[in-house]
Amino acid sequence: MEIGTDKVYCFSCGEMIKAEAEICPKCGVRQKTNPLIQMKNPGIAAIASFFFAGLGQIYNGEIGKGLLLIIVQTVNVFLMFVIIGFFTYPIVWIYGIYDAYTTAEKINVEMIR
Ligand SMILES: [Zn+2]
Repeated sequence: MEIGTDKVYCFSCGEMIKAEAEICPKCGVRQKTNPLIQMKNPGIAAIASFFFAGLGQIYNGEIGKGLLLIIVQTVNVFLMFVIIGFFTYPIVWIYGIYDAYTTAEKINVEMIR
Protein backbone atom coordinates (compact mmCIF):
# COMPACT_ATOMS: atom_id res chain seq x y z
CA MET A 1 0.00 0.00 0.00
CA GLU A 2 1.22 3.45 -0.82
CA ILE A 3 0.45 6.46 1.28
CA GLY A 4 -0.80 9.38 -0.78
CA THR A 5 -2.59 12.38 0.56
CA ASP A 6 -5.88 10.54 0.87
CA LYS A 7 -5.46 7.49 -1.39
CA VAL A 8 -4.12 4.01 -0.75
CA TYR A 9 -3.89 0.86 -2.84
CA CYS A 10 -6.28 -1.98 -2.10
CA PHE A 11 -4.13 -4.77 -0.63
CA SER A 12 -6.13 -7.34 -2.61
CA CYS A 13 -6.58 -5.98 -6.18
CA GLY A 14 -4.26 -2.97 -6.11
CA GLU A 15 -6.96 -0.52 -7.08
CA MET A 16 -6.44 3.01 -5.79
CA ILE A 17 -9.07 3.64 -3.15
CA LYS A 18 -9.79 6.22 -0.49
CA ALA A 19 -7.63 5.87 2.61
CA GLU A 20 -10.77 5.92 4.80
CA ALA A 21 -12.42 3.11 2.79
CA GLU A 22 -13.00 -0.01 4.86
CA ILE A 23 -14.10 -2.06 1.87
CA CYS A 24 -12.62 -1.80 -1.64
CA PRO A 25 -15.35 -0.60 -4.05
CA LYS A 26 -13.79 -2.58 -6.91
CA CYS A 27 -13.24 -6.07 -5.48
CA GLY A 28 -15.29 -5.76 -2.30
CA VAL A 29 -12.48 -7.03 -0.07
CA ARG A 30 -12.36 -5.59 3.43
CA GLN A 31 -9.10 -3.74 4.02
CA LYS A 32 -6.96 -5.25 6.77
CA THR A 33 -5.58 -2.00 8.06
CA ASN A 34 -6.34 1.64 7.84
CA PRO A 35 -2.82 3.05 7.63
CA LEU A 36 -3.91 6.55 8.57
CA ILE A 37 -5.19 5.25 11.90
CA GLN A 38 -2.54 2.61 12.60
CA MET A 39 0.49 4.66 11.58
CA LYS A 40 2.63 5.62 14.56
CA ASN A 41 3.91 9.13 14.98
CA PRO A 42 7.65 8.89 15.82
CA GLY A 43 7.51 12.38 17.39
CA ILE A 44 4.70 11.41 19.76
CA ALA A 45 6.49 8.15 20.63
CA ALA A 46 9.72 10.02 21.42
CA ILE A 47 7.96 12.72 23.46
CA ALA A 48 6.03 10.07 25.42
CA SER A 49 9.33 8.37 26.26
CA PHE A 50 10.87 11.75 27.08
CA PHE A 51 8.29 12.38 29.79
CA PHE A 52 8.04 8.81 31.03
CA ALA A 53 10.45 5.98 30.15
CA GLY A 54 8.60 3.11 28.51
CA LEU A 55 5.54 5.17 27.56
CA GLY A 56 6.65 5.53 23.92
CA GLN A 57 7.09 1.75 23.68
CA ILE A 58 3.57 1.22 25.04
CA TYR A 59 2.29 3.75 22.47
CA ASN A 60 4.04 1.69 19.78
CA GLY A 61 2.25 -1.43 21.04
CA GLU A 62 5.38 -2.91 22.63
CA ILE A 63 3.75 -3.35 26.03
CA GLY A 64 6.35 -5.84 27.31
CA LYS A 65 9.30 -3.64 26.37
CA GLY A 66 7.58 -0.59 27.84
CA LEU A 67 6.94 -2.32 31.17
CA LEU A 68 10.52 -3.63 31.20
CA LEU A 69 11.88 -0.08 30.72
CA ILE A 70 9.64 1.16 33.58
CA ILE A 71 10.99 -1.59 35.85
CA VAL A 72 14.61 -0.89 34.80
CA GLN A 73 14.18 2.84 35.46
CA THR A 74 12.63 2.12 38.87
CA VAL A 75 15.72 0.06 39.71
CA ASN A 76 17.92 2.88 38.39
CA VAL A 77 16.22 5.37 40.73
CA PHE A 78 17.21 3.15 43.67
CA LEU A 79 20.71 2.80 42.19
CA MET A 80 21.05 6.59 42.50
CA PHE A 81 21.57 6.00 46.23
CA VAL A 82 24.81 4.27 45.29
CA ILE A 83 25.67 6.82 42.56
CA ILE A 84 25.54 4.25 39.69
CA GLY A 85 21.93 5.25 38.96
CA PHE A 86 23.02 8.73 37.91
CA PHE A 87 24.85 7.10 34.99
CA THR A 88 22.50 4.22 34.14
CA TYR A 89 19.26 6.26 34.38
CA PRO A 90 20.12 8.78 31.59
CA ILE A 91 21.49 6.00 29.37
CA VAL A 92 18.26 3.97 29.59
CA TRP A 93 16.21 7.19 29.31
CA ILE A 94 17.92 8.26 26.07
CA TYR A 95 17.75 4.67 24.75
CA GLY A 96 14.00 4.67 25.45
CA ILE A 97 13.47 7.89 23.48
CA TYR A 98 15.65 6.69 20.60
CA ASP A 99 14.04 3.24 20.54
CA ALA A 100 10.49 4.66 20.63
CA TYR A 101 11.29 6.95 17.69
CA THR A 102 12.98 4.35 15.49
CA THR A 103 10.39 1.65 16.29
CA ALA A 104 7.54 4.00 15.32
CA GLU A 105 9.34 4.68 12.01
CA LYS A 106 9.82 0.94 11.45
CA ILE A 107 6.11 0.27 12.08
CA ASN A 108 5.23 2.89 9.46
CA VAL A 109 7.62 1.43 6.88
CA GLU A 110 6.13 -2.03 7.36
CA MET A 111 2.64 -0.56 7.15
CA ILE A 112 3.16 0.90 3.66
CA ARG A 113 4.96 -2.18 2.31
ZN1 LIG B 1 -9.76 -4.19 -4.27
